[in-house]
Amino acid sequence: MRIAHWIKYQLLKYRLLDFSRITTFGWEVRLEGSSKCQLKCPLCLTGIGKHRNETVVGWGHLKFAHFKQFVDSHPRIRAIELSNYGEIFLNPEIKDILEYAHQRGVTLTAGNGVNLNNIKEEVIEALVKYRFGRMKVSIDGASEETYQIYRVGGSFEQVIRNIRRINHYKQYYGSKYPKMKWQFIIFGHNEHELPKARQMAQELGMTFKPKLNYKTKKYAVKDKDYVAQESGLGVATVEDYEKQRNHLYSPACLQLWSSPQINWDGKLLGCCVNFFGDFGNVFEQGLEQCLQSERYQYAKQMVLGEKPARDDIPCTRCKRYQRVKQMPFRESLLQEFKKSNRHKIL
Ligand code: SF4
Repeated sequence: MRIAHWIKYQLLKYRLLDFSRITTFGWEVRLEGSSKCQLKCPLCLTGIGKHRNETVVGWGHLKFAHFKQFVDSHPRIRAIELSNYGEIFLNPEIKDILEYAHQRGVTLTAGNGVNLNNIKEEVIEALVKYRFGRMKVSIDGASEETYQIYRVGGSFEQVIRNIRRINHYKQYYGSKYPKMKWQFIIFGHNEHELPKARQMAQELGMTFKPKLNYKTKKYAVKDKDYVAQESGLGVATVEDYEKQRNHLYSPACLQLWSSPQINWDGKLLGCCVNFFGDFGNVFEQGLEQCLQSERYQYAKQMVLGEKPARDDIPCTRCKRYQRVKQMPFRESLLQEFKKSNRHKIL
């Protein structure tokens, strides 16, 4: 049995060497529900207004007509991640999107995160009624004062109220969906509230996920030992995390294979980080054609360190590109691949 597993593993490895064969691992994509956001979080490119005028992400909502057309023309897609740079609940057609996905048996998620400040009652009910899969709520504090330092323009009380409303409907419908996670980005100004937030998450039926922040100078944590222990991460900065484990804290490049990112207007971005350029328009050309384009294939080879950087590939301008080349990315890719069910149909 062990030998059989070993042979299977080697075969997978061999197939990954020929990665151009693989368009995606499975049946999941990321399709941004809205790039607009009402908050002004200082470390967020959306919050500081960069995407609005300066990048390919732009400023807009996914149209229901585009969502329907995409789902209808890609029947093999079974899961869609809706969140990325914006707040999906600002999309005026979000309820229609939730309902249609449910009708077509497509699971929706917001694993990248929502701020959950402004959401209509009918959408709260729709999240439960149409069995929205899972949702990560960004709450970086356990009090109004602390929360508002980073989530500028938001209201802690309002977010907690909305979570309670979702729980009310979960009880009413006897459903465990959407599963909710409390994401807490750790800064110097909020680290003392980690235990209280963890406790509140538990009381609200949410899992708790402390996250390291990327700006360790401006938003440095104060007590590194305490944060390392209290977060459960064993480290207090992204640098230490990557040094200790020798892989990226957030390996977004994997999404080129596992769940390609599509912008709200159909541009194929490949991963949730990319705002430098696109790989064609999925709404106009179809997903398969964009994924098989020479530039998309080249980007994957670049990330794997098998081709040199090229000016027309967005990754060339990405800070993570240099770092990913120095880490055992192919191994991470292989692990992702094994976790997916893709190998069953290869
Ligand atoms: S290098 Fe940057 S833009 Fe390219 S896939 Fe990785 S994270 Fe995305």
